[in-house]
Amino acid sequence: MGDWFQTIVDVEVGAEDAEHFAAEVRDWLISAGIVLSERTDCVLGAQVGHPPGPAAGQALEDPSEDDGWQRLWTKGLDITVGRAVFDAGQGEVEAVTCPHCAKELRLVDACWQLIDEAWAPFREVLTDWPEGLDGVIACRFCERPVEPTAWLWADDHLALGQLGFTFWNWPSLKQDFVDEIGRRLGGHRTALLAGKL
Ligand SMILES: [Zn+2]
Repeated sequence: MGDWFQTIVDVEVGAEDAEHFAAEVRDWLISAGIVLSERTDCVLGAQVGHPPGPAAGQALEDPSEDDGWQRLWTKGLDITVGRAVFDAGQGEVEAVTCPHCAKELRLVDACWQLIDEAWAPFREVLTDWPEGLDGVIACRFCERPVEPTAWLWADDHLALGQLGFTFWNWPSLKQDFVDEIGRRLGGHRTALLAGKL
């Protein structure tokens, strides 16, 4: 059985504020009892994370859902600060939309293979981002330049950002909870990625 994850990514926060907002949301999650403050070995991709707290159910769409997930080894919250490409994992990203003209560019063909000519510029943007480079490319429809974090990826398959909250093996997070985190992130735009490892 694979491990399932949901990641809330702040796609607007800058490097100088990421740590501040990470602490803000972490403190709130702890004081609300959604996660515990003491970190343990309960996440993937990092050494330690915050295990679920007594009020973890408040973050869930269906709090009555079997709490079997809490008996799993991997059940914690990992907070990532710093430039990262968050990826929902399996499969290719279907399309990307320009934030200016709202036109969608398909990135895969009918067989779900990446269309190399469409994908190549984005591949570069994604490679550059974690290395500290802002690959600003122009939309091919309206020709306006687009910041790397501003592209809208179909189904929130990808997100580029400097702050992410990954909940490992938690049942579906409820929309109110995701919205509340967005508010506590200063109203920044967020993406919610879900995937499986
Ligand atoms: Zn455009």
